Amino acid sequence: MKLVDPPGKAKGKSSAKTEITASPGQSLPQTGRQEIIKKCPINPNLVHYEKAYQTFDWDQARGEVDWFAGGKINAAYNAVDRHMSDGRRNKVALYAIDSRNKLSKLTFQDVYEQSNKLGNALKKLGVEKGDRVFVFLPRVPELYVTTVAIAKIGAIAGPLFSAFGPDALRDRLQDSEATVIITNPELKPKLDSIRKELPDLAYVIVVGGDESKLGEREYSYEALVNAESDKLECERMDPEDPLYLLYTSGTTGKPKGVVHVHNDIIGHHMTTRWVLDLQEDDIYWCTADPGWVTGTVYGIFGPWSNGISVVSYEGRFDADSWYNVIDKLKVTVWYTAPTALRMLMKAGDEAVYRHSLASLRHVLSVGEPLNPEVVRWGMKVYGLPIHDNWWQTETGMQLVANLPCMPVKPGSMGRPLPGVYAAVVNDDGEELPAGELGRLVVKPGWPSMLRSIWRNKEKFDEYFRIPGWYFSGDNAWKDEEGYFWFVGRADDVINTAGHRVGPFEVESALVEHEAVAEAGVIGKPDKERGEIIKAFIVLANGVTASDELIESIREHTKRQLAAHAYPREIEIKDSLPKTRSGKIMRRLLKAWELGLPTGDTSSLEED
Ligand code: ATP
Ligand code: MG
Repeated sequence: MKLVDPPGKAKGKSSAKTEITASPGQSLPQTGRQEIIKKCPINPNLVHYEKAYQTFDWDQARGEVDWFAGGKINAAYNAVDRHMSDGRRNKVALYAIDSRNKLSKLTFQDVYEQSNKLGNALKKLGVEKGDRVFVFLPRVPELYVTTVAIAKIGAIAGPLFSAFGPDALRDRLQDSEATVIITNPELKPKLDSIRKELPDLAYVIVVGGDESKLGEREYSYEALVNAESDKLECERMDPEDPLYLLYTSGTTGKPKGVVHVHNDIIGHHMTTRWVLDLQEDDIYWCTADPGWVTGTVYGIFGPWSNGISVVSYEGRFDADSWYNVIDKLKVTVWYTAPTALRMLMKAGDEAVYRHSLASLRHVLSVGEPLNPEVVRWGMKVYGLPIHDNWWQTETGMQLVANLPCMPVKPGSMGRPLPGVYAAVVNDDGEELPAGELGRLVVKPGWPSMLRSIWRNKEKFDEYFRIPGWYFSGDNAWKDEEGYFWFVGRADDVINTAGHRVGPFEVESALVEHEAVAEAGVIGKPDKERGEIIKAFIVLANGVTASDELIESIREHTKRQLAAHAYPREIEIKDSLPKTRSGKIMRRLLKAWELGLPTGDTSSLEED
């Protein structure tokens, strides 16, 4: 197979490091186990943010990925096959810890051969370029192999979160008209219960289990791949051909089927290098499931395109188990989410100190606003600032981030990446000056931008309703130094007595109180004020509810917030409604409070 440089571009130099910068986080209180920062000085891939921001354009990054003749490309070739000839053939691509805590390892060569075999098998079943092949598996090695195999043959991968129930499955499989699904015996009954409603689904492939239990048009994964050759030529794709189809989290409404293309790999590759700062010897753990965009982009394609060893953990969440994963595999870079960090904080400092965690050098968070209190706590117990960054299923890659080379501002999502122009605008698309609240928009043109919403042009067009901007649906403001601050989803912003208040600032003030573990805030209609602020809170471990406690929480928030922004009503709950990806569903809190219809709840977490 002959690979060529992209037309007119020289092959770029990889991760040049010219300077050692000071450890980030100077603006944070330097308390706790600071020695970890000293032991792991950060020598980041991106050293000079301002310079890169002024000079970088995406054409410069084309040389970082491999191309076929005629400007063709395949993201899976870049994630796996190219490492057969760059010295990484025998490097561990995946450290997989299963639900019984057993570790298995796959090298890049293992992934290469196994995905080739499956790719051949899928082709024999008649899968063609553009067909939708969905993956409904827990975090087992086959999940990673399968996603790559589908992309290799030019089909469209459809990752599904393993905790989805029959309704969520039906919605996605019907909408996408998927023809093949790959699952396992534990998850298959959910599929069986809706199979009759899926006329397009031709084949089911089952990983593991008893072959004799399989029905018509159902195949054993092992039997299929064992019969195949481990050689396969990746399909040469047009950069604009679809790579994966992924549904959004459903936080604000019905999940949207976002279509991404092979060209995205340029964005995956560069942002992985800049934001995750992955370097050759890193052991990297992305806690997101590939059923969500973070798990697909930064759990598979981005790190593997950079040839980095990835950790996958199938077990459930609890503080000791997670910290054990870090210590057992000596994880150096850890990408997780605010909900997990808040739960870790709730589990207490002692849980941290029972473990070493000395291998960690870079910690990141995405998916929801990261409360400043959590960043402060991270600094205290991990000795590292947690780097928040912002993006969406639709954007396909990180766009705004606290980079290792810049000071972290707790509560801010960071600054736009090189090649990304983000802004805050009013409803007419006019840019607002620093300090003013408005719509968070981005100038179209970054490599991983959504290409369509699956068979829903109207929805797609809404994102681009004003020419020149992509409307994210989030509200934010920007400070004088160009850091962006998340305020809330456009729909969640509260209007109280003529003031606009974002739920995030109120929630952050609430979780600063030691008795509060989590908070969700909504606007509740009020004759006098338009809306009043109502807070739902979950108490920290061991705290008992009382009127005095509520009063103390109210007093605390009054001190922290502007007079109009404190919650007039506070209600204690055992838990908050969350999406399966762990995001607080404020629209449900509101619907329950007001006795309104709950809308689409297929994304609601059940336990
Ligand atoms: P849906 O679009 O179906 O309502 P969703 O928006 O939650 O669901 P995702 O694409 O998974 O689906 O999440 C993107 C959203 O998550 C962003 O629009 C933003 O609201 C939120 N988000 C992501 N990262 C951050 C962050 N660092 N700070 C604040 N919010 C964030
Ligand atoms: Mg969204």
